[in-house]
Amino acid sequence: MDDPRVLAANLTAAARRCVAAGLSALVVSPGTDLRWLCGYDAVPLVRLTALVVGAGEPFIVVPRLEVLAAAASPLGDLGVAVHSYGEGDDGPALVARLLNERWPDREPRTVAVDDRMWAVKAFALQTALKGTCGEAVTVTAAAGILAGLRMVKSDAEVSALAAAAAAIDAVHARVPSLLQPGRTEREVARLLAEQVLAAGHVRVDFIIVAAGENAASPHHEPGDRVLRPGDPVIVDIGGTMPDGYRSDETRTYALAPVDPEFAAQYAVLYEAQQQAVAGVSPGVPRQAVDAIARSRLTAAGLGEAFIHRTGHGIGLDTHEQPYLAVGEEDPLLAGMVFSVEPGFYLPGRWGARLEDIVVCTPTGGRSLTLRPRELCVVG
Ligand code: ZN
Ligand code: ZN
Ligand code: ZN
Repeated sequence: MDDPRVLAANLTAAARRCVAAGLSALVVSPGTDLRWLCGYDAVPLVRLTALVVGAGEPFIVVPRLEVLAAAASPLGDLGVAVHSYGEGDDGPALVARLLNERWPDREPRTVAVDDRMWAVKAFALQTALKGTCGEAVTVTAAAGILAGLRMVKSDAEVSALAAAAAAIDAVHARVPSLLQPGRTEREVARLLAEQVLAAGHVRVDFIIVAAGENAASPHHEPGDRVLRPGDPVIVDIGGTMPDGYRSDETRTYALAPVDPEFAAQYAVLYEAQQQAVAGVSPGVPRQAVDAIARSRLTAAGLGEAFIHRTGHGIGLDTHEQPYLAVGEEDPLLAGMVFSVEPGFYLPGRWGARLEDIVVCTPTGGRSLTLRPRELCVVG
């Protein structure tokens, strides 16, 4: 989302939230928080790149070699001042110097760093701030400051996620032709990676191809296992679109002939997933959607085999807030986008998962991924 008006609103909202949380500044290093705030898709380097927001005008510190990349980003449109430092200079010290100009009074300050800042950078920043702005400066993790803003998507973001969903749907449409007995999981995964890029993604984020007994491990890494007749195969794939928004979709396939016991269990999973999607509505506690899927599987004796949460938010990250899991008591809000992906996993035998990306609209859940959800029998 490189629309300067959207980014400006994000920056303002973040600054307001910082002040409300009692923070003097929030320091954001390269990653999805930075991209969400200012559209700058910066490379994480050893040398510090850091956007500073909070009370006062936002500014960014970049190593000199990144000046052109920063200038090509929406930072200029946003009026964010760019300060660069040379090869022999110290990035954290420059951040501390600029903040010291803003804080001449030596009062206690709390500075939050984004949750994914490298520890070496966070500690270097802490040392520089205490040395320059006074020992009364505390450095802490931003924990949730931006997540709370990012988890409710704008209409433009929902459209971006719908485009990502359409792209991954197009890849799943090719899966049946790729699942040929005699191929290994790894061969299928390699072909799928090409398809993910061909469908419009700029990056492949993950490819799970889990056949037969391997399907009992939810995040199985594709290996040398050869596909055989009768295998259930979980295919869970996702990538990043040019605007940074992500896709994620699981379908379970089965090479003929299908074991009737597996088909019966999959039918329960299908119902559980559909009921969970139908349970999505603004105001519903997030854990309630998890409970819907879990109770249907439990009633069929598969509750113990459903070993993960029902869903995760998706946006510029594949996994972000909100989470549909036990203990998540906060309500769903219109504009939240998340996966609904119950599964069952039976070690030594097989497993299955059904995952859609769903937007919570004022009138209920609407699936953005649209491939058929019935067990897809191949051959
Ligand atoms: Zn997962
Ligand atoms: Zn997922
Ligand atoms: Zn997935």
